[in-house]
Amino acid sequence: MNHRIQTLIASAIIWALPALAQNSNTPFAPTPKPQEIVIDGVTGFQDTPMQPDGRWHVHDPARPQPPVVTPGASFSTLATPPNDAVVLFDGRDLASWRNKRTGGPAPWTIENGAMISAKDDIVTTNEFGDLQLHLEFREPAPPTDSGQGRGNSGVFLMGRYEVQVLDCYHNPTYADGATGAVYSQHPPLANACRAPGEWQTYDLIFTTPHFDADGKLTVPGYVTVILNGVVVQNHQAIRGDTTYRSVGQYTAHNPTGPMALQFHKNAVAFRNIWVRPVPLVNEP
Ligand code: MG
Repeated sequence: MNHRIQTLIASAIIWALPALAQNSNTPFAPTPKPQEIVIDGVTGFQDTPMQPDGRWHVHDPARPQPPVVTPGASFSTLATPPNDAVVLFDGRDLASWRNKRTGGPAPWTIENGAMISAKDDIVTTNEFGDLQLHLEFREPAPPTDSGQGRGNSGVFLMGRYEVQVLDCYHNPTYADGATGAVYSQHPPLANACRAPGEWQTYDLIFTTPHFDADGKLTVPGYVTVILNGVVVQNHQAIRGDTTYRSVGQYTAHNPTGPMALQFHKNAVAFRNIWVRPVPLVNEP
């Protein structure tokens, strides 16, 4: 091969590299940077997959905002747990929790009977299947940041399925990430948030997904969520793991799992957390 042909081949390769790198079928493809956009003051994405309804992208800022409902003055605030409840936090210690990432002690702090999110996600030392859950949370006041950056935490059922905790009081965000959303999938039926600094209640009923012997989904998980006395999820089928910018997908797992609470850079307070395990029903 003479020098001229070698030079031509080298030039062709150099010329083609950027095109190869942009072709997602090649191993050269860089991960595209998420393209955040703002529509009517709501920040989100439209470079994400379509939801199965074919109408909205995941985290679509154009998806309608949940209607604002002002909750009543009280509902289950400071509800005393029934005698068969598993108390996960009564204001005293974090013995029922551990660090989700390391398995070590839960790195959250306790202040005035509330536990404050910090450093890492935490998970329960107990595992649960079908359950009834009560917890209370309080968003930082005065609020800082906006959208998903304001008072973000989350309740991860079985450590996988997130019911969003966020300060959506006069803080619009993409609907499938609002307070009470099954994150990235199902917006809440209402925005029933109280103001930051006020205690808010979640009462939640969850039934686990079921899988056959081959790991194929036979029954999805379902969740009913009551935020401050307002139903925000009504026996909603969950589509799988609740992952940022993704349509949910199931991965087979055990019939029980720990519950997790998210640390998402914000100091969100929690108190009065208890669970009533509901006996597992294995028939679809
Ligand atoms: Mg969250």
